[in-house]
Amino acid sequence: MNTIDEIHDMCQSTTPTIYFVLPCYNEAEGLQKTAETLEDKILSLIKREVINSNSRVLFVDDGSTDGTWKLIRQIHESNPSFFSGIKLSHNRGHQNALLAGLIEAFHSGCDAAISMDADLQDDVDACDEMIDQYVNHNKEIVFGVRSSRETDTWFKRSSAHLFYKIFHWMGAETIPDHADYRLMGKHALRALSQYQETNLFLRGIVPTLGFETSIVYYKRGIRYAGESKYPLKKMIAFAAEGITSFSTKPLKFVTATGLFSILIGIVMFVYVLVSIFSNHAVIGWGSIMCSLWIIGGCLMLSLGILGEYIGKVYMETKHRPRYFIETRC
Ligand code: UDP
Ligand code: MG
Repeated sequence: MNTIDEIHDMCQSTTPTIYFVLPCYNEAEGLQKTAETLEDKILSLIKREVINSNSRVLFVDDGSTDGTWKLIRQIHESNPSFFSGIKLSHNRGHQNALLAGLIEAFHSGCDAAISMDADLQDDVDACDEMIDQYVNHNKEIVFGVRSSRETDTWFKRSSAHLFYKIFHWMGAETIPDHADYRLMGKHALRALSQYQETNLFLRGIVPTLGFETSIVYYKRGIRYAGESKYPLKKMIAFAAEGITSFSTKPLKFVTATGLFSILIGIVMFVYVLVSIFSNHAVIGWGSIMCSLWIIGGCLMLSLGILGEYIGKVYMETKHRPRYFIETRC
């Protein structure tokens, strides 16, 4: 006859340890509510023997300035077996903060980690299906995909779709309407930990890791508290980062534009010769001015694109550490 402790131990060994990784940047306003919601979720999963009691929430404070770390420590002290945190020494951006959390979770010995935003926009109930896919269907990576974007503004919706189209057209792999809400098993985490790039775009990297994958659909809610840390400027920078980190097609486009421009130049030259010899050369400064601006613009754009890639090569060759963990709790 098994004792209660033995049964408990058996459950511990057969059910997975899941870490919930949440990057937080100035999220003090809503973090308490997030912690409570996740505590309820984890408790119910443990009770139903879906996950074991070593599972926990790992907050990553991405150099916040609003007391987020203080709050994380308070939450940790209120329930140390459920909540822990790491504090990065400086704001390193969402992608680096997320990576720091995932690597920390991997080294802590979790079986799988679920990454989600700290503002409760990612429906926590979708975790059940993610874990089911991981445990019962042997999926190593489960992508959370939004079933609708009703809560987004028209602008965010259209710009996101345009981005996915461009990204796909550029030959990079991505899952449309998937942000960073996903489950990754320890094998996938180990693979991810081997990526050394400084220009990090996890949404592009993770689909290229391989392994067995599946998709779970969820309805994305509105931000519980505080404001988005992705204003338009950051969103554009993020999209450019994604494209230039994964595709060299823009460089080919630059070359093609240059060749096309030369071709037009040759046609123009022939036309000018014909005009001169047939004595009807018309001197139109307007067309010259237009060409001048357009060609100048093309050149500047080409230089910009080249510069973007050179900048990336420069940053990568430095091999700078992507983040520093200042402290843990
Ligand atoms: N975030 C971060 N570092 C940053 C910016 C954002 O860790 O420099 C976190 C933020 O706290 C949130 C997640 O990344 O948990 C996604 O950010 P946000 O919700 O502002 O983005 P949105 O949902 O508006 O796209
Ligand atoms: Mg958000």
